[in-house]
Amino acid sequence: MTAATEPCYRGRFAPSPTGPLHFGSLIAALASFLDARHSGGSWLVRMEDLDPPREEKGAARRILSSLQYHGLHWDEDVLFQSRRGDAYAAALDELDAGGHLFSCDCTRALLGPDGACRGRCRERQGQLAAPAATRVAVPPDTRIEFIDQVQGRIATDLGAHVPDFVVKRKDGLDAYQLAVVVDDAWQGVSHIVRGSDLLDSTPRQVFLQRLLGYPTPGYCHIPVITDGGGQKLSKQNHAPPLDDHNAAANLRAALAFLHQREPPPALGTTGEILAFASRHWVPGRIPALLSIAAACP
Ligand code: GLU
Repeated sequence: MTAATEPCYRGRFAPSPTGPLHFGSLIAALASFLDARHSGGSWLVRMEDLDPPREEKGAARRILSSLQYHGLHWDEDVLFQSRRGDAYAAALDELDAGGHLFSCDCTRALLGPDGACRGRCRERQGQLAAPAATRVAVPPDTRIEFIDQVQGRIATDLGAHVPDFVVKRKDGLDAYQLAVVVDDAWQGVSHIVRGSDLLDSTPRQVFLQRLLGYPTPGYCHIPVITDGGGQKLSKQNHAPPLDDHNAAANLRAALAFLHQREPPPALGTTGEILAFASRHWVPGRIPALLSIAAACP
C-alpha cells in the first residue's frame, strides 16, 4: 500500500505526566504516530502538565525518553501546557465576552452525579463564596454529531446530558477540556487519535470549538486495554511501566492489539518495525470496540 499524502495532516500525542509510559499509553502513542506517518503528516507531542497535584516528579522526562526508545520521534518542539496559561486566559475572556460563562461555588455534594450545577449558581452571581469554579453553560438543545474513524457515528444530546461543565477549576487550575481545545487549535492539529476513555469528553470539546470558532479535527478513538478484571490499564491502576529495553517487542505487541499486519520476524529494529507498520497502517482493521482485555508484554 502506498502512503496517501495529506499535506495538512497534523496529529499529536498528549500525555499527562502522572507516571511513566505504560503499555496502554504506548498503544495510543503508536496509533496516532502511525496514522500521521501513513498520511505523510506531522506528529507532535504535547505534555499536558496542567495538574501539578496529580503529577509525578520526573514523569515528563521519562515519558519523552520512552517514546524515543520506541522510535516514536516527534516533529517540532514539545509543547508544555504549564506554559500556556495566557492562551487559556484569552480563550476564557472570549467565552466570557460571549456570555457563555458563569461562576459556581457548589461543593461536590451539591452537584448532580453528572457533575453539573444546572444553573443554580447562575442566579446567584455576585453572592458566591470564594473560591468558585468557572463553568460554561450548554444550551439545552445542543446536539453534537461527528464521525469517528473507528467508533462510527457519534451523536450526543449534549445540552440534555451535560448542562454545564468546568473550564477553570476552583483551585485556580485550567481545566483539561478548555486547554486541550485551545492547544489543538493553536497547534493546527487536524487529526486526533486517542483512547476511547476520552470519547465522553469529545462532544464537550466540539462544543467549545464551535463557541471559539475553531475547526473540528477528525477523531479516531481506539479501544483501551483492560486487565482480566475489566479495569482500564492506567497510571492510577498502577500499570507497570514499559520496559524500554524491550522496545521492539512492545511495538509488536501494540500492533497486534491494534489488529495491524504483523511485521516480518526479520525486521528487528524499532525503525524497521515502524517503517513497515506505517506503510501497512489500516485504521479500518482496529476493532470498533471501546475496550479489549489483553495481557501486557
Ligand atoms: N492528557 C490526556 C491523558 O493523558 C489525553 C488528552 C487527549 O489526548 O486529548 O489522558
